[in-house]
Amino acid sequence: MSTGYYLSQKDLKVLMIDAHDPPHPHGSHGGDTRLIRHAVGEGLQYIPLALRSQEMWNELQTHSNDEIFRQTGILNFGYKGSGFLEKTIEGAKDYDLDIETLTVEEMQKRWPGLHGEDLEIGYYEKKGGVIMGENAIRTYRRLALSNGAELLVDTPVNSIHPETGHVRIETEHDTFTADRLVLTSGAQNGLMLKALGLDLKIQPSRRTIAWFEADDNLYSSEHFPGFIGRSRNGSYYGFSSIDGTGVKIGRYDGSDEDDTEPEGMDRNFGSFEKDEAYLREFLSAHMRGANGKLNKGLSCIFTNTPDEDFIIDQHPEYDNIYVAGGFSGHGFKYVPVVGEILTDLVTKGETGHDISSFSITRDELYE
Ligand SMILES: Cc1cc2nc3c(=O)[nH]c(=O)nc-3n(C[C@H](O)[C@H](O)[C@H](O)COP(=O)(O)OP(=O)(O)OC[C@H]3O[C@@H](n4cnc5c(N)ncnc54)[C@H](O)[C@@H]3O)c2cc1C
Repeated sequence: MSTGYYLSQKDLKVLMIDAHDPPHPHGSHGGDTRLIRHAVGEGLQYIPLALRSQEMWNELQTHSNDEIFRQTGILNFGYKGSGFLEKTIEGAKDYDLDIETLTVEEMQKRWPGLHGEDLEIGYYEKKGGVIMGENAIRTYRRLALSNGAELLVDTPVNSIHPETGHVRIETEHDTFTADRLVLTSGAQNGLMLKALGLDLKIQPSRRTIAWFEADDNLYSSEHFPGFIGRSRNGSYYGFSSIDGTGVKIGRYDGSDEDDTEPEGMDRNFGSFEKDEAYLREFLSAHMRGANGKLNKGLSCIFTNTPDEDFIIDQHPEYDNIYVAGGFSGHGFKYVPVVGEILTDLVTKGETGHDISSFSITRDELYE
């Protein structure tokens, strides 16, 4: 939707086709909210993209009466030596970002709802926060349509056929031809690209998130930040209780290895005992007051590349096909800038953003 919107600002005829009706719970973006951090531990190359996205999220907010971004701050906490936290602090220094490094005592004084033996080191980024993801998608969709883009929902693309000078796209009832095609089909990208001659090692993987009743005096978004928690038992991320909905938490690592095909994946929360147990494990160890009644749970899909870096590139053989995917569970915060990059590639054939780590021909995707 973001790419559709930024393309619709150009003098182009834009058609968006989606198998569902975005926002929806069938892909990777469901579940209301997403975190945005600026000092990202996934790699220095992401920091300028996170900063640009934050500007663009703020800009998007000016076009919507719905809330797009809530500046809750983000706390990263965990055990010393996890690597991720140290890398994040290093990145913040390199980019002179406004973060505070905190001792255990400082964290517990500020957020009395935090505890546990893995609480050894923390840093707080006050400018980070929560993107209201579904509101953002609805806003991009509305803006794209008001600029004249067209949208087909509940319309799976069955096949893509590169032909001389254009691309032919087949859905159940129609055939479309386009000068250029942007492919952003999330967990389906692997299958789509295979049919276009690229057998990439990208792996859809099931993850669960859930909302638990929490003590709002400790964990409401007025009192508690979004968080990344690195415990020795696993990596977690979560959201303070937004307007009384409860603390939402998910586990970053630890997938269901046997449930990794997008087609036929069991998307019901609770099908596996660990769906809820994993999440409660972290809450009971670190945020006891948020380990209340289960309000809601759902499953979602990560689409992982072997190096967990994204794919944003032109198809190596068909230069009128562009791809963005493999977001490996950390892509949402970059939604605006990815739209901007794809628009640059489609309209100018190049972008000023550094996307060299996201090449579709890098060895890691084929080994
Ligand atoms: C539980 C969870 C928590 C996350 N938390 C964060 C976070 O806090 N911060 C962050 O930055 N990122 C986070 N992420 C990652 C982020 O949500 C994803 O990286 C992002 O949503 C991926 O977007 P996408 O457009 O590639 O995929 P999707 O959102 O799945 O979109 C793909 C779209 O393609 C459509 N499609 C698929 N196949 C076809 C077809 N054949 N024809 C037509 N349409 C098709 C689908 O219907 C869908 O609408 C999280 C992910 C999960 C699962």
